[in-house]
Amino acid sequence: MKYYSTNGNSPKVSLQTAVVKGLAADRGLFMPERIPTLPKAFFNNIGEMSLQDMSYVVANTLFGDDIESGTLKNLVYDTLNFDIPLRHVSDNIYSLELFHGPTLAFKDVGARFMARILGHFNRHNNNDALVNVLVATSGDTGSAVANGFLGVPGVRVFVLYPKGKVSRIQEAQFTTLGQNITAIEVDGTFDDCQALVKSAFMDKELNEHMKLTSANSINVARFLPQMFYYFYAYAQLAKRGQDLSNIVVSVPSGNFGNITAALIGKRMGLPIKRFIAANNRNDIFLNYLNTGVYTPKPSVATIANAMDVGDPSNFARVLDLYKHSHEAICKEISGCSYTDEQIAETIAKTYKETNYLLDPHGAVAYRSLEEGLNPEETGVFIETAHPAKFKSTVEAIIGEEIDIPDRLAAFLNSDKRTIELPASMDKFKEFLMSL
Ligand SMILES: *Cc1c(COP(=O)(O)O)cnc(C)c1O
Repeated sequence: MKYYSTNGNSPKVSLQTAVVKGLAADRGLFMPERIPTLPKAFFNNIGEMSLQDMSYVVANTLFGDDIESGTLKNLVYDTLNFDIPLRHVSDNIYSLELFHGPTLAFKDVGARFMARILGHFNRHNNNDALVNVLVATSGDTGSAVANGFLGVPGVRVFVLYPKGKVSRIQEAQFTTLGQNITAIEVDGTFDDCQALVKSAFMDKELNEHMKLTSANSINVARFLPQMFYYFYAYAQLAKRGQDLSNIVVSVPSGNFGNITAALIGKRMGLPIKRFIAANNRNDIFLNYLNTGVYTPKPSVATIANAMDVGDPSNFARVLDLYKHSHEAICKEISGCSYTDEQIAETIAKTYKETNYLLDPHGAVAYRSLEEGLNPEETGVFIETAHPAKFKSTVEAIIGEEIDIPDRLAAFLNSDKRTIELPASMDKFKEFLMSL
């Protein structure tokens, strides 16, 4: 299967090229040229399948032309060696907990899948040129990507993050690893980091000097595997004998990679009725839904900081998927935007009433279901991070101490190593050229 650019001004490419390049030559994002559908029978016994078996069927439908089935199976099984449980929270609302991976963030799945696929293509080509992965992070991407790629031969990772704007635990997860992982502390915002990465990909001289790729959700190998979650949510509802005809999924959204994967999953046949793109005060998408006009804005800092994005990079994919029809988009996706106060209130109230502890990102999505779900609907919200990742914020809200899982605590005991840079392309380029 070939991948085309959302900008339509560069040739279609193979999966391998899409993964290695990240972004198309015309700065567009890659999209699969066909969206294959799963056979109806797949959904009949989906409730009996394991996460790994089910994900392999989905992956094979999407990538089967391009990766030999045994290899793909190993790749999927290796990526998904942890559970993604669905928990009942209140009335007809369920939480799909995506935080049981190595960094307790949902990005673990995409990052691990991409690292393995890149490793596979490298080996396949007997290519000994190092691949350099550049990744901008507002917190969770950096830790998931750094840990997903740690020790993968032939790949070096550079994590760019905004100084002073990520939590201590998040920072520790990508600044303490060493080996093939380098953390770059940028004196600026997340949007500055993202702009530096984008400029690096477009710089001719740099690209002649070294092989560069992205591991942000602009990369097809990062964002597409996220659709596994939604099939698994459906499977778990099926297993519980729930009504499957009115499922509403709310996704805490920043760069819109996760929700776009879900939307493509729906095109492949997954019966989800409608989606909610849940946002914090960065309400660019909601404004688009309300007005039909997309107006990026500088991001504002919130307590759900992994969603502090002022120009969601996957918006181009959403537009492309619906052929730029505002009406078609509004039919399937609604939006919401909550302030920090509303997020805090939701965490406190839900904890008190149901004993379920939300993290600030999941809280946004939970609230959108509480406010917007119709009685005949079943709501699933995506809980994208473990609450302990935002320890001080969550503790201040509920007035109780929470435990840090051992896996996270281990990061805090190691030394932080970073390279400090201003938010300047000249300086960033100088650094990369010196390697
Ligand atoms: C990355 C992230 C999001 C946003 O996901 P997108 O795919 O960028 O929309 C939400 N919550 C958490 C905890 C994240 O790390």
